[in-house]
Amino acid sequence: MTHIRPSWPHGARRGPSLVRAAVTAIVATALIGTPLAHAQQGDSKGKGLPVLRDAEIEQLLRDYSSPVLRAAGLSRQNIQVVIINDTTFNAFVADGRRIFINQGALWQSKTPNQVIGVLAHEAGHIAGGHLSKMREQMARAQTQMIVAMLLGAGAIAAGSRSGSGVGQAGMAAMSAPQEVIRRTLLSYARQQEENADRAAVKFLNATGQSAKGMYQTFRRFADEGLFATHGADPYVQSHPMAAERVAGLERLAHASPNWDKEDSPALQLRHDLMRAKIAGFTQRPDAVRRAYPGSDQSLPAQYARAISTYRHGDLRAAVAMVDALIRAQPNNPYFHELKGQALLEGGRPAEAIAPLRRASQLSGRAPLIEILLGQALVASSNPAYAEEAITILRNALVREPEMAIGYVQLAMAYSRKGAYAEADLASAQAALLRGDNKTARDLATRAKSRFAVGSPGWVRADDIVSTKPGKSNN
Ligand SMILES: [Zn+2]
Repeated sequence: MTHIRPSWPHGARRGPSLVRAAVTAIVATALIGTPLAHAQQGDSKGKGLPVLRDAEIEQLLRDYSSPVLRAAGLSRQNIQVVIINDTTFNAFVADGRRIFINQGALWQSKTPNQVIGVLAHEAGHIAGGHLSKMREQMARAQTQMIVAMLLGAGAIAAGSRSGSGVGQAGMAAMSAPQEVIRRTLLSYARQQEENADRAAVKFLNATGQSAKGMYQTFRRFADEGLFATHGADPYVQSHPMAAERVAGLERLAHASPNWDKEDSPALQLRHDLMRAKIAGFTQRPDAVRRAYPGSDQSLPAQYARAISTYRHGDLRAAVAMVDALIRAQPNNPYFHELKGQALLEGGRPAEAIAPLRRASQLSGRAPLIEILLGQALVASSNPAYAEEAITILRNALVREPEMAIGYVQLAMAYSRKGAYAEADLASAQAALLRGDNKTARDLATRAKSRFAVGSPGWVRADDIVSTKPGKSNN
């Protein structure tokens, strides 16, 4: 089910260079801990965060988040949950439109309720408009700081003129206000955390869910924060876990009639399958075997081992393992997707087509799966498939317009049938998404010369030709 080549970047054994989903640069807002600085590390070109794309996990996170977002009055905002490929625990809001959550947080959360609690808390930040309020607060602090420094400088000047010791006092005056301001901002951030907690409990109550998972997670970090001086999880830095805060949350959560409510077994299974997938795709084979030993015959354990085998072992064994999963859950789209992906990446695209068609159908035509199907159709080198690949890829790209790999496949499908103008245009769009504006303009210029002047393709190519040159990364 996963659109992995571009999306599961770590340790792709076969597979070409990784394409990072283009995520627009995010304005750093939090002053404490700066979770963004952490999330953006390893991204020197600023093309965006290392985002993980996966139809199964994204669907699960939509199912987790939509009830709380509705309760928060945010259902119309079309808020997306974006998965960051980072093994640490973190979740944060960066622009009021997206909740970012690390795959490490998903892996470390043992129940759906724990993740839902974290999402509810982030929804609390969005609903409270905390980001923009923090920006205002910082702007005010900066002004205070400048004023304080000017006063301090004045005192130093006065001190040195009078020849007395007032100069020293001036230096102290310069540093003291900064400390006061830092503390003010810190306590302001803590206040926001408490507000977000309270809002989250409200949303969870409104949706008949327990706040126990949120409390468990925060309690864990509060305990950790007591002992870890440095190297603590970024979540502690982005969400200060004061002891009073956690105690307050415990009282609030306990008071809810839903405290003892548990996730449904079906949801827990989907959660366990998600964790197994994360392990299979991101952890080393020995770590996967430790977490999911052969004696464990549960579906999640089989899933983790099947993924790990396809990534690091042999294709034939992996396909046999996935077939066993399909026999257990014939209507699980993501098992069919995994089979198709393993075959496709194992160099057997023609055999990947049938399982990917099934996966697409069962998933309600999930665009990430459709892009994979389009890829298999193109790679099978059967000219009869070119037209179908074009239709499928174009439809998928309407819903996933930032998937550069989809445009790459589309370009190949077009050139298969000799539609070179369309092929150039699709390649130009892929280059644009990669941030390679120069190549994009060159290809779009060639596409323009091949299209009839004023035709829709010509107009789109013309748009790309007029892209600002300064933004190119290459
Ligand atoms: Zn928070």
